[in-house]
Amino acid sequence: RTRLFAKAPLLHSNKWPRPDPAYAEVAVIGRSNVGKSSLLNKVSQFGTVARVSNMPGQTKEAAWYRNKKVKVDFIDMPGYGHSARARIFGPEALDFVRNRTSLRGLYVLIDARHGFKWSDHEWLSELGSAGPMKQVVLTKCDLVPDKRLIEIASLVRSDLESYKRVERKVILCSSAWLTGFQELRKDICQRCKL
Ligand code: GDP
Repeated sequence: RTRLFAKAPLLHSNKWPRPDPAYAEVAVIGRSNVGKSSLLNKVSQFGTVARVSNMPGQTKEAAWYRNKKVKVDFIDMPGYGHSARARIFGPEALDFVRNRTSLRGLYVLIDARHGFKWSDHEWLSELGSAGPMKQVVLTKCDLVPDKRLIEIASLVRSDLESYKRVERKVILCSSAWLTGFQELRKDICQRCKL
């Protein structure tokens, strides 16, 4: 089995925008197509959100969304897994999460139809106990029948047991039905001490 991040170059964190002390930061990460942008779009609607800055990349960029009302910067990290090209962003994301002391929370998105994939495991193992406390969010829950959703959620919870600095609870979301967003917002508020 080849390791996902072994050969890719590490970028230094001075490539990323500087943290603004007036803003709390939370980041969202997950495989490409897991529903990060859709979720961020919905969860960040405490007020108006403006895209403020991008981390330059070749195929996809990390995007900063600033919410002036609640003073939170939401960071949409480049997706991992999926294609060989997407993999090159793994180490950058890893480096960012490890070194960004201003990050209050890291939301790890998992597609409710599939549960943990190898690239999720790889990413979490590489990260180890570095970075902020992680919270797993199951996305696209509207696409999974209730009974299956319960099974998947319980599988994901047991998969989490081997990782450090990750909440044992799993938040179930659907950007289509807007379920789970109250819980997610509450979680963000607690993390950011809003
Ligand atoms: P990203 O690549 O992780 O940012 O994923 P996107 O947010 O762009 O979503 C990828 C695809 O999944 C899009 O076609 C979305 O419309 C769809 N999608 C995202 N969230 C949901 C959801 O909660 N339910 C359903 N049914 N589709 C979703």
